[in-house]
Amino acid sequence: MKNTNYSRRKFISDGSALAASALVFSSSEVLAQTPGNVKIAGQSVWPSEASWQQLKEAVDGRLIKPIAPWSSLKAGEMNEDLKNPWYLEEQAGATQSTGMYQAWDSTPSAYAVAVEKVQDIVAAVNFARQNKIRLAVKGTGHDYFGRSCAPDSLLVWTHPYRGVTHHPRFFPQGAPPTTEPVQAVSVRAGNRWLEAYQVATAANCYVQGGGCTSVGACGGFALGGGFGSYSKKFGSGAAGVLELEVVVADGRVLIANAHQNEDLFWALRGGGGGTFGIVSRITLLAHPMPKTDGWISGTISASSDAAYLELVHRYVSFVPAALNNGSWGEGVIFPKGKNHLEVGTAFLDLTVEQAQQVWNEFTAPLKGRPKEFSVDLKFSVVPFKEKWNPKSDGVIMDSRPGAPAGYFWWKGNDVEVGAYWANYQGRGVPLKSMSIEHSKVLAKAIFDASRTSLILFQTNKGLAGEPQEARAREITTSLNPVVFNNVGFFTLGSWVQYKYPKVPGHEPDMLWAKNEADAVNQAMVHIKKATPDGGSYTNEGDFSEKNWQSEFWGIHYARLLSIKRKYDPDNLFRVHHGVGSESQNVDSTAKVTTQKLNSR
Ligand SMILES: Cc1cc2nc3c(=O)[nH]c(=O)nc-3n(C[C@H](O)[C@H](O)[C@H](O)COP(=O)(O)OP(=O)(O)OC[C@H]3O[C@@H](n4cnc5c(N)ncnc54)[C@H](O)[C@@H]3O)c2cc1C
Repeated sequence: MKNTNYSRRKFISDGSALAASALVFSSSEVLAQTPGNVKIAGQSVWPSEASWQQLKEAVDGRLIKPIAPWSSLKAGEMNEDLKNPWYLEEQAGATQSTGMYQAWDSTPSAYAVAVEKVQDIVAAVNFARQNKIRLAVKGTGHDYFGRSCAPDSLLVWTHPYRGVTHHPRFFPQGAPPTTEPVQAVSVRAGNRWLEAYQVATAANCYVQGGGCTSVGACGGFALGGGFGSYSKKFGSGAAGVLELEVVVADGRVLIANAHQNEDLFWALRGGGGGTFGIVSRITLLAHPMPKTDGWISGTISASSDAAYLELVHRYVSFVPAALNNGSWGEGVIFPKGKNHLEVGTAFLDLTVEQAQQVWNEFTAPLKGRPKEFSVDLKFSVVPFKEKWNPKSDGVIMDSRPGAPAGYFWWKGNDVEVGAYWANYQGRGVPLKSMSIEHSKVLAKAIFDASRTSLILFQTNKGLAGEPQEARAREITTSLNPVVFNNVGFFTLGSWVQYKYPKVPGHEPDMLWAKNEADAVNQAMVHIKKATPDGGSYTNEGDFSEKNWQSEFWGIHYARLLSIKRKYDPDNLFRVHHGVGSESQNVDSTAKVTTQKLNSR
């Protein structure tokens, strides 16, 4: 790992070769909840030009026809802006990823409302419901499942609707007068985490969001759970939400918090984006700012397969006692087909010496056997207040003329911009799988899986070991409770960058994609066997997961579904593997998806 000061540094060296239990729902039951007559652009039932004109007037002219910015690329040409995540977010017709093999292709909506006020969202929701057309919602387009795009749809594009406010004393609407106010930060639907962090930093506080600067701070991240580098200290993104303003399917604007619309409040904190309504504003609990942000980068190599297996086992045995607490985040990469670990581990409020002391337990025995192992790690610490204004070579600045000052993305995230995914899957790692009795089995599974896929392990995406204070907030969310037993999370993936489905001369190689998809699937078989009950979550799950209800939400799925039916009885808001979206043939994208999944 080359980078020294960034937080979600993933998959960086192999960018070229990467990706209800008891509940049974019949398709017919769910189909009854969905409009059967979804309309397709160009068909006679599609709203007339006059209807669209009325919508345009209702949103003060902010109805646009989005186009994909790569659609006009000639063979052999490249537009450098397509490598910039901030540019991509400025395009109503783009997403951060360009698609996934046998899953989805990034496709612009027929129309988009470029939101500048809450009433724009209300107008779009009412129009889609009344005309029975497909509705899509996009803030940043960061979704791995492509859930923020859908052809033949009306897009609610929240990107232009931005504004971040720091509240020294936030008092939830409708709370009893005895309620103690707390420090908080509110963000509008179009804001990204970098913008929230910058405002929080200026007020000397911190909100727990994602590491990737351009992921939305008021969208799928927190709604789907959301784990950032220091979630083991401060909790999930969902647990940090104090209040939401949300436009529901009937066009009402509701406030959801612990004192009103409590069921919706619970569902929105973990139940997934694009499912229960469109959140126009979110208010996040602010924490006192940590003092320092630390990072360990480098590699630990083994000289043979046998030594590598031992190295993996030693790491797996080291994690539960040493790193399963709020001081640590991020983790290591097990690269595909190689015998080394790439370390990219974050630490909070520890000095370099303190961090080295903890790691010494793991690395000292390795350093004593130089013929079998080589350890090359660098420890660094910066003041936390510089985290979102970094002065290191680990970042790429948005240097376009007119770009807002201080906008950057981590080099570790650069490898995912414009990604076309062969496959991408995630899996929770129960503490039990890392126990003395099971750690050898887990180490062997990681070794076997790493022969065919790159694997990222992050401790911050498992909440075993989080402080009581964070856990108390966590249990009031709809997060899959298995995460409380998990020490971390594996993501497996394979991708290629700057490939655009259906753009001649720029299309991904489908044979490569098939082989890589198969290789990742094969690797996940090993991982799943060694992590029983590890579960997953909606933000980083498997597009083709058959048991997604139980894998993503566990025992909470039945309650989530009943809340979904209360607030959105006709399933206006539907996304792939979203609560209540069991039926895959609810829209034109999903029809394709179903066929493809069956052949996978
Ligand atoms: C490079 C990269 C890194 C990532 N890292 C992490 C990570 O470290 N931790 C983690 O938890 N996840 C991570 N994710 C996953 C990411 O958090 C989810 O995909 C999340 O849903 C993105 O939300 P968004 O609003 O930014 O994206 P979008 O693509 O705009 O939206 C994602 C989903 O949320 C819905 N949505 C968007 N805005 C709203 C709104 N205002 N109201 C209601 N629904 C809305 C959309 O319809 C869609 O279903 C990462 C993704 C990428 C591509």
